[in-house]
Amino acid sequence: MSTLADALAAVDAARDEIIALTQALVRVPSINTGYMPTGDETPAAELLRDLYAREGIDSEVVESAQGRGNVVARIKGDGSALSLMLMGHLDVVPVEDPDQWTYPPFGGEVHDGRIHGRGSADMKGMVAAEAMAAIILKRLGVSFKGDLVVASAADEESGGKYGFEWLAANRPDLLRSSVAVNEGGGRAMKRDGKVVYAINTGEKGRLEIRIRVKGRGYHASAPWMADNAIYKAIPVLERIAAYKPEVSVDADLFKHLDAALGITEEVTNDNIDDIIGRLFPVKPQAASWLRSASRMTMVASMISAGVKSNSVAETALITCDVRTLPWQDEAYVARQLDQILDGLADVSYEIVTTAIPSASTWDHPFLDSMQSATGDALGRDDLEFFPGLTTGFTDSRLVRHLGIQAYGFGPSHPDSDPSLDGAHNINESTSIEDLMLNTRFMVALAWRVAVEGAG
Ligand SMILES: [Zn+2]
Repeated sequence: MSTLADALAAVDAARDEIIALTQALVRVPSINTGYMPTGDETPAAELLRDLYAREGIDSEVVESAQGRGNVVARIKGDGSALSLMLMGHLDVVPVEDPDQWTYPPFGGEVHDGRIHGRGSADMKGMVAAEAMAAIILKRLGVSFKGDLVVASAADEESGGKYGFEWLAANRPDLLRSSVAVNEGGGRAMKRDGKVVYAINTGEKGRLEIRIRVKGRGYHASAPWMADNAIYKAIPVLERIAAYKPEVSVDADLFKHLDAALGITEEVTNDNIDDIIGRLFPVKPQAASWLRSASRMTMVASMISAGVKSNSVAETALITCDVRTLPWQDEAYVARQLDQILDGLADVSYEIVTTAIPSASTWDHPFLDSMQSATGDALGRDDLEFFPGLTTGFTDSRLVRHLGIQAYGFGPSHPDSDPSLDGAHNINESTSIEDLMLNTRFMVALAWRVAVEGAG
């Protein structure tokens, strides 16, 4: 009978394979420009499918469109425990100028303990860790209580329309699971000699508001005959700038500020701005994070008006970026806008939701499994964890509505330097130590949840 220690030893023994799989994935240029045809994730999906086939693991490649391959593997359990999904994406952001890179962006070369190339950090290393975790457990011949699913999808970098959004709508059977881990959390932080990790439970939403201010054009030599849409836009802009969003400390993060930042006082809607104000001079990034986690933001990000310099503008168009908390829906945003624009004539708006906000619960036994598995992977039991809320978004939002509790977490090593990863930048690379830690974490997590049935 194999033990968790055997499984972790098998990860260490598979070091070269784990590195080689990451390199092979990085060498597939699955670049997502956002405009079809693009992505071309199918070769990466097929690479994983062929690997699973050699190991006797069932998987399926499904294309959401020409070249937009997704691959999902499933090791079936006997159904007596929760099923676990390891999520990832196969696409990468473009490389603007390869000459700026020290090593070839699609070379997957190893230098200084790191694998270099576009996608190594975001997130082909984690995809390789997830796939290898399934392979290593399969090789050990252990029997599973819950299913272990590894889902590697297309199109995350453009919003997931051809990836998890498509899978959730068209092949929810492939994603069937109770709990999931995905990118978007797990950077080790050191505070007062302790190692602290955020497990991201939720993500803010994003909407675009297009406000149209209608005036009346005229020849610019007789402006009094016009009703200048640019001037009419001024009060609209002033009101948006002056808007005070409702403050809310509902996110789980605010119940765990002690673990997160060493803040021990009780946090309420009334005192959070004082706390942020005191934190700002010492830790501006953390203060900014608390501010965005405690309210919706709305900011005018683009403005256009008029068509010619010698004509008075007939129309002004103001575009705003809005980031919502998990409990704020489109109707909430519309109510806020109605109040902001109340009484202004000739103003209309349109709301376009580009990402729905979502959150999973912090109160789930799976969180204990994630924390224990991190300890197993690092070989220490003095770690602290707290629930994070990210202000960006990942694919997790696209599966939460299927009833899956999804968490952003892939632990980095306390001694690794996250500033070197270069995600979405030149010289992207991933630390081999982090890659190994991630694989050990995935194996330990799958062991606890799907093999032992711990929840
Ligand atoms: Zn990513």
